[in-house]
Amino acid sequence: MSTLRFKALEKTVNKQAEKIVIGEKLSTLFNQNVFSHDTMREYLPKPAFKAIISAKEKGTKIPREFADQVASAMKDWAISKGVTHFTHWFQPLTGTTAEKHDSFFRPTEDGRAIDVFEGSALVQQEPDASSFPNGGIRNTFEARGYTAWDPTSTAFIIGTTLFIPSVFISYTGETLDYKVPLLRALQVVDDAATEVAKYFDKNVTKVQSTLGWEQEYFLVDLNLYNSRPDLQMTGRTLVGHSPAKGQQLDDHYFGAIPMRVMAYMQDLEIESMKLGIPITTRHNEVAPNQFECAPMFEEANQAVDHNSLLMDLMGRIAKKHDFKVLMHEKPFAGVNGSGKHNNWSLSTDTGENLLSPGKNPKKNLQFLTFFVNTIKAVSEYGDMLRSAIAEAGNDHRLGANEAPPAIISIFIGSQLTSVLDELEKVTEGKLSPEEKTELKLNVVGKIPEILLDNTDRNRTSPFAFTGNKFEIRAVGSSANCAEPMTVINTIVAQQLRDFKKEVDALIEGGLSKDEAIFNILREYVKSSRHILFEGDGYSDNWVKEAEGRGLTNYKTTPEALKLELTPKYIEIYEKTGVLSAREVEARNEIKLEKYSTKISIEANVLVDLALSQIIPAAVNYQNVLVKNVKGLKDIFGDDFKDLAKDQMELIKTISTHINAIKSATDKLAKEAKKAKEITDHQKQAEAFGKKVKPLFDEIRYNSDELEELIDNNLWPLTKYREMLFTR
Ligand code: ADP
Ligand code: MG
Repeated sequence: MSTLRFKALEKTVNKQAEKIVIGEKLSTLFNQNVFSHDTMREYLPKPAFKAIISAKEKGTKIPREFADQVASAMKDWAISKGVTHFTHWFQPLTGTTAEKHDSFFRPTEDGRAIDVFEGSALVQQEPDASSFPNGGIRNTFEARGYTAWDPTSTAFIIGTTLFIPSVFISYTGETLDYKVPLLRALQVVDDAATEVAKYFDKNVTKVQSTLGWEQEYFLVDLNLYNSRPDLQMTGRTLVGHSPAKGQQLDDHYFGAIPMRVMAYMQDLEIESMKLGIPITTRHNEVAPNQFECAPMFEEANQAVDHNSLLMDLMGRIAKKHDFKVLMHEKPFAGVNGSGKHNNWSLSTDTGENLLSPGKNPKKNLQFLTFFVNTIKAVSEYGDMLRSAIAEAGNDHRLGANEAPPAIISIFIGSQLTSVLDELEKVTEGKLSPEEKTELKLNVVGKIPEILLDNTDRNRTSPFAFTGNKFEIRAVGSSANCAEPMTVINTIVAQQLRDFKKEVDALIEGGLSKDEAIFNILREYVKSSRHILFEGDGYSDNWVKEAEGRGLTNYKTTPEALKLELTPKYIEIYEKTGVLSAREVEARNEIKLEKYSTKISIEANVLVDLALSQIIPAAVNYQNVLVKNVKGLKDIFGDDFKDLAKDQMELIKTISTHINAIKSATDKLAKEAKKAKEITDHQKQAEAFGKKVKPLFDEIRYNSDELEELIDNNLWPLTKYREMLFTR
């Protein structure tokens, strides 16, 4: 069986490696299939073009009369590229993207046909939405939702379809997707940050949030993937012994990319370029068959769409290369999992990165302001970030000694730590001329210099400052970046609002602007100390220390999701207008349900694997041994005992494992049934997490032992070593 598997694989390897393309120039492909700035200028009347750009850059509304012009321009451009259909493309809370295709084609009364795409169809579409998760919102109100064009993200073409990035809302106006809260959060942070940026530069009129994600993933041969029901049904392997050659050798990271993978990556990059996703980086990751790609950072909404689009694209292109992409956070036990770093910053329409130190003390005070406010926001609302990345798959990474721990802390490096130390010493109230000079020269003045050689990189931190941006490292590989982006922008926005109020009050009380800012920042540093941590986030000491500091450590999704309903967190969403209490509750319910469903599916698949594949294989091999022992007895009579000693031991060991699997499976089926009957979503998720999931380990342990004992030719499941070393 396994030899056959390898013969089949050999064929695809050779066939796929031939697909490597030589000499495609990526820059000429860029934005080819995007209704880009340039294309819009070409196809749109000037006023309509200006309206879109202003909607994109300033968030203004597009007058209704322009919608027809935009639709018509989009259609003409799309048809010139062979397009026949259009779809609103949106991101419901299922976690994947959704689309519903309609044709441009319309028959006329005189028997001809024309291509039509009107403003009304561009602006709004009504998908059959009853099967998307809604946390009870649509059931109680209208049983329908609709999608609406998001002009701040660019339309694009895949195949013969025009894709229009859209939001998804219920008829009563509640959000049913990832995008609406994100757009709201981006607006709030824009308003709040612009106000604060004006302390330093009056010309700032808009602040954009930027996101640069890094996407990790695994590639597995498609046929081998299809031979594993657990991978197919749950995205991860529920059993499987670690390969002898795991990642112990550390020879994979930045190693040579296998030819066949290279062909896939090239194809992916070409298609990404055409769709305007500016992929620039590709490399192997830590684990065998694990890879990463990353683009140039972009405005956050566009970057989120590009990540969702890329995840779709990866799946499609992988198929062409007989690969399957695994986005699961932990597809293989004992092998590194996959994450998605979210690099985040804020930048002004005057071309400044607000988290980048500048050339003079004024710019650096601006940097310190945004830097310290972000720290303060996370120190107050860090748990919201924890909830935003909570998901069944991510539970396998967080706190499992490879990804950041489940404790949210911030790493800033030793040099910035000493800047904050100095800041904390600033005198209360008015500053003496000497102190002002001292601050200018030795605190604020020194920042750019020190950051240049600041090579501190602490990989164990979930939230790290990396020179000119913060990096959120605990996001799961399969996640939609919109959620962590919504949270970080919301909490920083609220924090900046509070900051502005406090600074203005001090100015009113007679302090100069700089004095007021220094005074408030000093207080923020004092009250945020507990969130700063420079040490090893994987160590046991940190777990203890964090507890002493009052930081939370929620290791599982149900615990982390429970936090979402904390009044303080609901309040910040309501205050900023990002989500209503009702929306928070509905989303929370959807997430809990998703968690329970995932564990429940895993339980079903594992029971099935155990009973229909693993135990029968063990029994088969046991029968071989039994026959062997009997044969030895026939031939050697009483001497057989010596000769068959090991075989008889093995027969017993196999029985022990079979029995253990059988009883754990029975228990698992019973506990899963009980959990399914619980109606309270929180309690149900907790039951799946505490009562059902732990039984997986028992089955897995015994199955993995059997995998090592049983004749390779009789083992029914493709092994790790066969899946993980693509040539
Ligand atoms: P790592 O060492 O974690 O691989 P890199 O420095 O290679 O980090 O990755 C940097 C990532 O940060 C890239 O995806 C890049 O686009 C992104 N990035 C750089 N500057 C910004 C910024 N101002 N805002 C958001 N993301 C940024
Ligand atoms: Mg990174």
